[in-house]
Amino acid sequence: MDFNLTTNDAEQKFRLELGAFLDQELTPEICRQHYMDLGLGPEARAFALKLGKTGWLGRGWPKKYGGGGGTVVDEYIMVQEFARREAIVPNIVARFMCGPVMLRNGSEGMKAEFLPRIASGEIEFSLGYTEPSSGSDLASLRMRAMDDGDDYIITGQKIFNTQSHFADYHWLAVRTDPDAPRHHGISLFVVDQRAPGITIRPI
Ligand SMILES: Cc1cc2nc3c(=O)[nH]c(=O)nc-3n(C[C@H](O)[C@H](O)[C@H](O)COP(=O)(O)OP(=O)(O)OC[C@H]3O[C@@H](n4cnc5c(N)ncnc54)[C@H](O)[C@@H]3O)c2cc1C
Repeated sequence: MDFNLTTNDAEQKFRLELGAFLDQELTPEICRQHYMDLGLGPEARAFALKLGKTGWLGRGWPKKYGGGGGTVVDEYIMVQEFARREAIVPNIVARFMCGPVMLRNGSEGMKAEFLPRIASGEIEFSLGYTEPSSGSDLASLRMRAMDDGDDYIITGQKIFNTQSHFADYHWLAVRTDPDAPRHHGISLFVVDQRAPGITIRPI
């Protein structure tokens, strides 16, 4: 049984070129830093930016937002080629979770502000869904956002936030309408990790 992807010539070429780049650029130190335990060091940051410059990090996204205008198959090729080398795609939360949601549902302003910087390897996101008393049953989440007229004031606690110790932004699921049925009234926020009032603790 052949479980390989069905690829066209352009996709096949991308696989070969990306593979050659990774063989040359990936070092054990970069692979280790991309595992989320210790966070990104300067080598992994530099690698992310170098990959961003090739245009391959945003390969499957529209050119308009800093992407390479490639196919969805290219996205799988990218993950496969990193996995073959026991490495993780840089910006993995931003690249594969936040970015695609922005592409589908974000405002033009949001897309223009964040997508090119994700595709260039410049910024990383942390993932904030789970709470101490809200795991599998995510609709039970309690973090609240109150609109004070100018800003949203967010209060609450999250746990297991992948990459929080080095991310630039947080992708945060927050309750914005406490009167709605519990599986409604939840919004996703992009929060600057350096915003006042955020405490990050290791577990
Ligand atoms: C490596 C790792 C990385 C993670 N990264 C993130 C992250 O970046 N951001 C984030 O928000 N979260 C993250 N999480 C958290 C993850 O999403 C939660 O662990 C998950 O949602 C389960 O929640 P919980 O741990 O509270 O377990 P619980 O929901 O309390 O579940 C405990 C046990 O009860 C079982 N169970 C739950 N509900 C039911 C049910 N209705 N019927 C029968 N059995 C049930 C479960 O299967 C499990 O065995 C991460 C977790 C891990 C392990």
